[in-house]
Amino acid sequence: DQAMYEAKQDGRGRYNLFDAARDQRVQSRRHVVGRLRQALRDDELELHFQPKVNLRQGRMVGLEALLRWRHPERGLVMPGEFLPQVEHDDLIVEIGTWVIRRALAQMAAWRAAGLDLAVSVNVAARQLLADGFLAALHACLAEFPDLARDRLELEILESSALENTARVRQVMEACGGLGIGFALDDFGTGYASLTYLKEIPAEVLKIDQSFVRHILDDGDDLALVEGVIGLASAFRRQVVAEGVESAEQGVLLMRLGCDVVQGYGIARPMPAERVPGWLAEFRPDPQWARWADARWE
Ligand code: C2E
Ligand code: MG
Ligand code: MG
Ligand code: MG
Repeated sequence: DQAMYEAKQDGRGRYNLFDAARDQRVQSRRHVVGRLRQALRDDELELHFQPKVNLRQGRMVGLEALLRWRHPERGLVMPGEFLPQVEHDDLIVEIGTWVIRRALAQMAAWRAAGLDLAVSVNVAARQLLADGFLAALHACLAEFPDLARDRLELEILESSALENTARVRQVMEACGGLGIGFALDDFGTGYASLTYLKEIPAEVLKIDQSFVRHILDDGDDLALVEGVIGLASAFRRQVVAEGVESAEQGVLLMRLGCDVVQGYGIARPMPAERVPGWLAEFRPDPQWARWADARWE
């Protein structure tokens, strides 16, 4: 109406496009939140799993659970298309709990089939900081008493670990008390200070894929990755490289001291039922073996 229209005009009497765009974003966010809440009820969410491989040992060391939305009309929708719209809504907390429970249920199913697999689960900042987080985590773990708790790992973005640092540390330490460790995801994009890194109870740093992507041909990215690997070893943290798309990148990472990698070059995220078959057929790339052998001579 007229009043709204006037409110949206800036001092020079022009329609303010920025406000219009913001209105549209708010509307689309509300729509996604509502639709996703229904998706959770209708069981349209699923987890896919992407292997992490130790190149030197030539074996899989764990899997990352990644959320997908099996949309009835649009097919498989990736988390980048819907999670940013809900990460400031309490729905992210509900989804996050569903993800943890689903991951544990899958681990239990694999274990019953004779596969003892470690799984890491992404946790949103809002979820980690929510009042009921520890209770929910505890309740999920209690549903699967036969699983060793250290087989579950939580990933939080380096950038979210930098907000509300005191509280984040407190929650992480409480999780540690439950036997659950943390990885700092997309590491290198959040500018954690050395002081903070020294104190944060995360055993693993996951180097962001944007740095890994060009290590073979960009000296700056190579230097950055080397720096993170050095930092990790100085603080006695493990390091995982994300987004490894070729065997050559793997060899270079191994030479730099990063043995655990994840990426399309090893395996794409896959539905849970494909994991046992993938594991049975997985053969490490001969290039990795050659490098590992050379080190042992
Ligand atoms: P992330 O945790 O950093 O996960 C890695 C992302 O990179 C995944 O995208 C994965 O499919 C993709 N990826 C893996 N290897 C390669 C590669 O070699 N090349 C390229 N180009 N990409 C690769 P995905 O599954 O679309 O997930 C995107 C992000 O969504 C995740 O980034 C994570 O931050 C978030 N996410 C996914 N599942 C969950 C969840 O259950 N809860 C929360 N809070 N966030 C989630
Ligand atoms: Mg992750
Ligand atoms: Mg990442
Ligand atoms: Mg990411």
